Amino acid sequence: MNRSLFIKQLIETTEFDICIIGGGSTGLGVAIDAATRGYKTALFEKSDFAKGTSSRSTKLVHGGVRYLQQGNIKLVMEALKERGLLLQNAPHLVHNQKFVVPNYKWWEKPFYGIGLKIYDWMAGSLGLGPSQLLSKEETLNLAPTLDPKELTGGVLYHDGQFDDARLAISMAQTAAKNGALVFNYFPVTGLLKMQQQVCGVWVKDYFTGKDYEVKSKVVINATGVFTDEVLRMDDPKHKSIISPSQGIHLVVDKEFLPGDTAIMIPKTDDGRVLFAVPWHNKIVLGTTDTLVDTVTDEPVPFQEEIDFILKHIGRYLTKDPQLSDVKSMFAGLRPLVKGKSKITSALSRDHQLSISESEMITITGGKWTTYRKMAEDTVNLAAEKMRSQITSTTKDLKLEVSATVIPSEISHLTNDEIKKLIKEAVQKEMCMTVEDFLSRRTRQLLLDTRIAITKAPEVAQMMAEITGKDDIWIQEQINIFNAIAKNYLPQ
Ligand SMILES: Cc1cc2nc3c(=O)[nH]c(=O)nc-3n(C[C@H](O)[C@H](O)[C@H](O)COP(=O)(O)OP(=O)(O)OC[C@H]3O[C@@H](n4cnc5c(N)ncnc54)[C@H](O)[C@@H]3O)c2cc1C
Repeated sequence: MNRSLFIKQLIETTEFDICIIGGGSTGLGVAIDAATRGYKTALFEKSDFAKGTSSRSTKLVHGGVRYLQQGNIKLVMEALKERGLLLQNAPHLVHNQKFVVPNYKWWEKPFYGIGLKIYDWMAGSLGLGPSQLLSKEETLNLAPTLDPKELTGGVLYHDGQFDDARLAISMAQTAAKNGALVFNYFPVTGLLKMQQQVCGVWVKDYFTGKDYEVKSKVVINATGVFTDEVLRMDDPKHKSIISPSQGIHLVVDKEFLPGDTAIMIPKTDDGRVLFAVPWHNKIVLGTTDTLVDTVTDEPVPFQEEIDFILKHIGRYLTKDPQLSDVKSMFAGLRPLVKGKSKITSALSRDHQLSISESEMITITGGKWTTYRKMAEDTVNLAAEKMRSQITSTTKDLKLEVSATVIPSEISHLTNDEIKKLIKEAVQKEMCMTVEDFLSRRTRQLLLDTRIAITKAPEVAQMMAEITGKDDIWIQEQINIFNAIAKNYLPQ
């Protein structure tokens, strides 16, 4: 991926077939589907790829045991199928993860045992392994820090786990390899219209301030919680359809849950599930579901959300994690589509596709896990609009594997090794800022924020040497990074 080359190609292209606004999992999925069907495709992301919700998930590729509890069979079936396909198509970034549901009440083993057998059955031939009933001893062998008092046993089941931001980069590379132009730091600032119909977008290069007019047969709005903002570019009187719901995660050391098995707590006080999942040698605890009324690029966890997670997880572990044990915390906003319920956890996780009077297509909702199916449905609608018959080929499409594996943490690396990685990230992954490198090319910011803060000056210096930037740039990058990073540390 080469941003300068993409800009050159952008100037040379008179009209695209499909132009996508938003470079999260949804937009990137659409770019892959469109490009592999042979459509001339461009994607514009206002910040970095997956800077929004798509780098702040629980990192699960799952059918959603909770949606099964809610009776949303269609969503679970679809997600389980997509889970299986993603494991086949991106085995370098997605793996089979064991989960244990600990049982403390007599009815839990039969209840969750039957539920998870149905979950296995729904996955069919794409299943990741059968669920099993466990004795108390077997449960403690897999999750030795579970509180043994009153524990009667557990249920073991399988789901997928992944690195969300790394998968997003692999998707951007896959789209680019198939001919799409993918731009980060390129906000869409307005819509082009002819006879009331959307026929392209205005975009601005964030770094140079230069504006470009981009003509396109179809424009797709895939902007997650920013969907309403783009719909208002189309119709200033548009009424909001997104109900943003915040979810947070706390990251703690592996000592709180040694081994490679995750824990799923099926019912918290607010009727949700809570996970403790091993991830890059740390444990991710989450999540919450809090209705918010403003959307921002950098949502900040609320104190009540932090307390909620610590309190609930403490009930199940022998050693309760304290605030001082938190290495990092991160918040994301779910782009849920408004419904009748005022409780966000009850709003649908299904995706919704709509087309405005001006013919702009909007894709909202859904899950990371189902991005491929969402993209297929979206491009089907775009193809119908263009009266084109080409069908999707992404079911068997292998996603790109980077030549150099970029590690999740850099604290153990020498300066030479870090510099080599920065060079790789800058030259092949469109890494533009210190925060891109520390948060989404590596995952240092999410794994241990304090280490990320201490590494930021060195990373800025090395990045400046590689890209030919000056001291002012270095200082600016450090300041921006520190301002963002402070939101990842509990006060
Ligand atoms: C706490 C939490 C945990 C989750 N866990 C899981 C999980 O474990 N598994 C799972 O399958 N799903 C999970 N999800 C759901 C999943 O993360 C989201 O459904 C998915 O990431 C949404 O992707 P998106 O591309 O629609 O939105 P986003 O990732 O937010 O992408 C939208 C992009 O549009 C860009 N944009 C906005 N305006 C403009 C503009 N004017 N011009 C250009 N670009 C613009 C934004 O910068 C942003 O990058 C979770 C969600 C949350 C909040």
